Amino acid sequence: MLFQDFQPLAAIATTPTAAKRLLPLALAAGATLWIPESLAGVLEANGGQDAHPTIQVYAGSLKTHLATIWHQYQGFIFGLAAGAVVRLISPLLEDKSRDPAVVVVDEMGQFAISLCSGHQGGADRLARLVALQIGATPVLSGASVGLGLPAVDMLGVAFGWTKGEGNWTLVAAAIARGEPVEVIQEVGSTLWQKHLPKGHPFYFETAEEQVTPGLQETRDLLDSSSRITNYQLPITKARIWIGFTQRRFSPESELPKVQWHPRVLWVGIGCERGTSRELIETAIERVFQAHHLAMGAIAGIATIDIKASEAGLVELCCDRNWPLQTFPAEILRSIGVPTPSTVVEAEVGTKSVAEAAAIVAAQESCLSMAKGEAADIVVGQESCLSMAKGGQDAHPTILLVPKQIFRLEGQPGAVTVAVALAEKEYTGRTGCLYLVGTGPGELNQITPAAQTAISSADAVIGYSLYIDLISPLLRPGQIVEALPITQERQRAQRAIELARWGLTVAVVSSGDCGIYGMAGLVLEELRFAGWDGKIPRVQVFPGISALQAAASRVGAPLMHDFCAISLSDLLTPWSAIEKRLTAAAMADFVTALYNPKSANRTEKIVRAQEIFLQYRDPNTPVAIVRSAYRQDEQISITTLDKLLSASIDMLTVVLIGNSNTRNYAEWMITPRGYQLS
Ligand code: SAH
Repeated sequence: MLFQDFQPLAAIATTPTAAKRLLPLALAAGATLWIPESLAGVLEANGGQDAHPTIQVYAGSLKTHLATIWHQYQGFIFGLAAGAVVRLISPLLEDKSRDPAVVVVDEMGQFAISLCSGHQGGADRLARLVALQIGATPVLSGASVGLGLPAVDMLGVAFGWTKGEGNWTLVAAAIARGEPVEVIQEVGSTLWQKHLPKGHPFYFETAEEQVTPGLQETRDLLDSSSRITNYQLPITKARIWIGFTQRRFSPESELPKVQWHPRVLWVGIGCERGTSRELIETAIERVFQAHHLAMGAIAGIATIDIKASEAGLVELCCDRNWPLQTFPAEILRSIGVPTPSTVVEAEVGTKSVAEAAAIVAAQESCLSMAKGEAADIVVGQESCLSMAKGGQDAHPTILLVPKQIFRLEGQPGAVTVAVALAEKEYTGRTGCLYLVGTGPGELNQITPAAQTAISSADAVIGYSLYIDLISPLLRPGQIVEALPITQERQRAQRAIELARWGLTVAVVSSGDCGIYGMAGLVLEELRFAGWDGKIPRVQVFPGISALQAAASRVGAPLMHDFCAISLSDLLTPWSAIEKRLTAAAMADFVTALYNPKSANRTEKIVRAQEIFLQYRDPNTPVAIVRSAYRQDEQISITTLDKLLSASIDMLTVVLIGNSNTRNYAEWMITPRGYQLS
């Protein structure tokens, strides 16, 4: 799942060592491992081709073979010398927006080099994933990496934005030089703006300023000259437009510009039966051209339910990867529209199909998102376009283009087109929730899989202390939301909201996220929300829990049957906790006490000690471990009767031995079996 953005993915090895190194990686990444015929026997020891359908054998030269498979894969991982890879791929490279991601892994598996298509092909991300998977260092040479800035050509990827026209190389170069870059964002999530590092070169213009004539003039002046120094505005060296309009950049302008198109436009379609795909497509293109709208900003197509299987419409949506939203006449009828028609009403039971469907789809795309995000949205209103407010909903929807009717010579049918603007973009992505355990504290106590999950996510959500601990794993451009410890449920809801919208969200918990962690909360919230168990996708990444971390610092106290009990009665009644303490003490379980004491809950640990003393010897070994594997780690080994004299707080876990546990030097040991004691 972690490598899903790079499927289909190929790995290529030409030596036995490289093949053996890449095989587990290929299996984990779901990649095809290509090897030459000469190596076919080498992997027999590992089960060979039969055991691993991942392995494919090519005949003849790698150069020829590569040319035949080059366009079949999104990414390539080469287990070859970088120089050899450069020679192999150089005749195949076309354009950095289309070339696959190319990553090279050295023979020793120490480095994963992002060789080609770093941003757009995602080779930087692929190199990070590969590096984490095999424990190598990623080698990234792109400029934005060192600056901690998101790459300009990756800005909108998390939100499903479409890349539009522009000089991406020059804008990226201006950012890399740290020159002022103006961002004019009319629509789309502004979340990316909130997670920029200090001293970033972007400055933001709002849509209102954009249509103010005076300012426009200023900008034009600034476009062509850097002589003007007495303005408040910084002197722009590049500009990023984020909007739904199709801007034509003048070739004379020296100011490099690019445009991103968030998918905010819902195209309402009404058509006669048998209307051709070509006619529908042409009609949409003409409307978009006439109103300077970007085709890349199309979220999807909306129509009446009886057109759900209209062949031309379905074919167009499939080809263009547009969702087709359909609504029954009863819903469409309830929408106020500028161009109602009684003829249409007589036929299908609503006065409007195209306009009403566009409006409803635009509204629904906002409603289907959980609330609370609205503040992150900027909606631009182009005064040149006609506007109408759709519905009485709290989410205003703007009908940008009222219905237009089209026919084409020689094409069957007729089509009406209307366009509505949604407040929030459609991402077109399937969201994912990674529920990640980050272990006790140190980075090297986090599993490689969990590290990979964290760095590959679009957004990372967690309690601020743990986010700080994992900060070296965070990637430039990632959305990082650290919330106070008390707001676990809000954290879970926020993660779900982003994932339902299409983002890949890592929710981090210390230790194991499934042990008094966020995994349960997130899954519970999903269940309450009527989750189907599939979307958003959920994957749980285990971590080293506090009891294991603490145990490892004092020896082997958990050698025999053990249990964990949390003394926090915030979510569990105290009577239930007492019952479990009694049962554990009675049954001679080694017991780990989580959440033993907080500023407001000081008596619980006293009561726990009393209960254990009823069933266990006062000399029973006890380990008190605070902040295991963190800088301020404290460990004391004591006995059950002296347990309270050690300092215990919320960062502490208490391990109480069983009747056979013994202290030995500075160690705590529970025998593997009782007969030996
Ligand atoms: N999911 C976590 C537990 C969270 S409950 C895990 O699996 O470890 C929080 C409690 O865990 C704390 O009150 C403390 O009792 C314990 N804890 C978490 N990290 C710890 C650490 N590094 N050292 C000691 N105890 C820790």
